Amino acid sequence: MSSPYRILVVDDEEKIRKSLSGLLQDYDYEVATASSGPECLQIMSSQTFDLVILDIVMPGMDGIEVLQKIKEEYKDTEVIIITGYADKEKAIATFRLGVYDFIEKPFESKEILNTIAHCLNQLELKKEIEKKTMELAVEKERLLVTLRSIGDGVIATDREGKILLINKVAEELTGWTQQEAAGKPHYEIFHIINEKTRKIPEDPVTRVITTGLIVGLANHTILIARDGTERIIADSGAPIKDRDGNIIGVVLVFRDITEHRKAEKELRMSEEKYRTLFEESKDAVFISTPEGRFLDINPSGVELLGYSSKDELLRIDIAQDLYFNPQDREKYQQALKQHGFVKDYELVLKKKDGKRLIVLATTTAVHDEKGNIVSYRGMMRDVTDQRRLESQLLQAQKMEAVGTLTGGIAHEFNNMLTTIIGYGKLLQEEMVEDDPLKHNVEMILVSSERAANLIQSLLAFSREQIIKPMPVSLNEIIKKVEKLLLRVIGEDVELKVILNPPTPPFDKGGQGGIEDVVVMADQGQIEQVLVNLATNARDAMPDGGCLTISTELVELDEEFLSAFKYKKPGRYALISVTDTGTGMDKKIVKKIFEPFFTTKEVGRGTGLGLSMVYGIIKQHNGYINVNSESGKGTTFKIYLPVIKSYVEEIKPSTVTIPTGGTETILLVEDDLEVRKLTKDILQKFGYKVLEAVDGEDAIKKFIEDKDKIQLLILDVVMPKKSGKEAYDEIKKIRHDIKALFVSGYAVDIVRRKGFLDEEFDFISKPLSPKELLRKVREVLDK
Ligand code: ADP
Ligand code: MG
Repeated sequence: MSSPYRILVVDDEEKIRKSLSGLLQDYDYEVATASSGPECLQIMSSQTFDLVILDIVMPGMDGIEVLQKIKEEYKDTEVIIITGYADKEKAIATFRLGVYDFIEKPFESKEILNTIAHCLNQLELKKEIEKKTMELAVEKERLLVTLRSIGDGVIATDREGKILLINKVAEELTGWTQQEAAGKPHYEIFHIINEKTRKIPEDPVTRVITTGLIVGLANHTILIARDGTERIIADSGAPIKDRDGNIIGVVLVFRDITEHRKAEKELRMSEEKYRTLFEESKDAVFISTPEGRFLDINPSGVELLGYSSKDELLRIDIAQDLYFNPQDREKYQQALKQHGFVKDYELVLKKKDGKRLIVLATTTAVHDEKGNIVSYRGMMRDVTDQRRLESQLLQAQKMEAVGTLTGGIAHEFNNMLTTIIGYGKLLQEEMVEDDPLKHNVEMILVSSERAANLIQSLLAFSREQIIKPMPVSLNEIIKKVEKLLLRVIGEDVELKVILNPPTPPFDKGGQGGIEDVVVMADQGQIEQVLVNLATNARDAMPDGGCLTISTELVELDEEFLSAFKYKKPGRYALISVTDTGTGMDKKIVKKIFEPFFTTKEVGRGTGLGLSMVYGIIKQHNGYINVNSESGKGTTFKIYLPVIKSYVEEIKPSTVTIPTGGTETILLVEDDLEVRKLTKDILQKFGYKVLEAVDGEDAIKKFIEDKDKIQLLILDVVMPKKSGKEAYDEIKKIRHDIKALFVSGYAVDIVRRKGFLDEEFDFISKPLSPKELLRKVREVLDK
């Protein structure tokens, strides 16, 4: 015992006071004494006692009165009454006043000590209980405060679902106060519905009580407050159990997630929006790291780069796998570092299959707080086709311009040569066999012929050469020229010819099936093309190699042809000429079709071979392209339009000996020299020739001699009135007048330019006397 119990002995008899206090002191109690009721109360007002031993019969204020006072004022103090036998009744009555026990006088020490010990024990217990009760009350208060201040709404119910407690947040959310809510059925206060169905969902309290489990509320639960305000809530219900595990109630915990849900929805929508934008963009969109890995790339990007999946692309090393030249990436990165972004930056990339890809990249560098680049975000647009078409178009335009220039010059020279050769021949014929000057004339003619050949090449390039197209079998031409080609390429080069017949017979043309590709072509010209290509191939394979010529039938679409004017989509015959020679770099490829471009030493190359090829193919409404890389050989591809129906095989023209005549011819030609030459030839062979210098003059002259004139020879292109216009006028005067047209332009050009319709007789410059006479006779004899 840490502090002894304190006992106050109250008795008017001193003997009892003394004996009792002595006894108690012997048992270690702390004892005070009082001889009367007032003295007792006075002592108690200044000291506390655990026990008062009170004599019931005292003079003045008696024990009962003192007892009442003590019980009123000192609740924690116990009282034991001492009574004589006579007052036993009285003493028993004091139990009502809260006395612990009474002891009869005379008492035994043992008896009194026992009673006292009992009492104090009891007192001790009582104090303990009070203390515990107090502690419990404090604990309860603390819990209640905690509960009420929880940030979530809390509602506790009993087993029947009646509200026991609702905290502050729940008060706010429901609109009910603790006092109003207490004892009400929970559903009146916690009024919930399903957001979508607007129906009352399964009661969470019942559910918790029946299952005994913690339950989460269904999604989309709405709490309707007392004033009708609706809030989306997230919550749970849990059973409240007693010590033995019996469910004695339910606690609901809930939170207002209206704002949260709204923000979440907005975020999701905005994320979805950007995702869609990313996923569905037709341009490639990517995020990559400066180290050279993709972090993300959209489906267009995967497709553009030719990979099978995004995952595959995320694994590649960009610099190594996507660039032909990793230094290109370094330059691009430098630009990004310097400016923070690049716009339409042209990059040459490598697809998964190794094909070249030209893209325009628009990229932004993304920095962290310290200013370091952490990623690149950008887009790529494929411009491979565009670039190719652009360069092809540019090339076509350049060739067109060069062609026009060359054609103009060649034309002038052609007229002059016509005169030189014509007169040369006349002179030659008039000389006797052993004329000493004959050699000189021959030399003039030889040189002139050579000049004429050169001019022919130029005309061929400028597509103004006279060609005589007819339906021919391409494979036949190649078969025929094969021998010649073998000679051209020499022994060191192997020649492979692969002729593919079209499958199936593509046109029956009403003439029976044709087993071959038929094109409208001038056989001699196509041979020329092949010889030129073979010559170049040989030059490119000085140590031998292989030259392959193959044919096939292909279908060209709009896109393929879009860069080339005049071309129509459809069926084309394709001749591929491939060599295993030195090949060419890009710079050379660009120029090879230009006249006089050669890389060969003086005397070996003229630079006209491919120009001719180009012109001839163009004139055949075809198309030629070249594929070559330094060291990897060269392939030329020639596309010629295939004709639909097969025209009967053209018979070789019958050779006729020129004969003259006596008819009168009106010769209309603006070029003085050509006119004089033509006139001379005609007159020499007996014709009478009238001359006119242009279209208008022709009409005038015709009117003057309209009955005599039997034939008109008209130059197609003339100042004032063209040949055709003059002819049309003259026809009005005499509708059956015969006419022969002459032009330096190829027949198809004349037609294309609308000078002549097809049915007219036509002869081209330079005029050969024989051909002129033959044609004149032919027209007159019609
Ligand atoms: P030339 O043969 O007289 O030089 P071309 O017009 O025929 O003139 O050819 C022009 C140039 O094109 C040649 O000088 C050569 O550089 C190049 N070339 C043409 N064909 C080939 C080929 N098959 N392989 C390599 N280079 C070629
Ligand atoms: Mg050549």
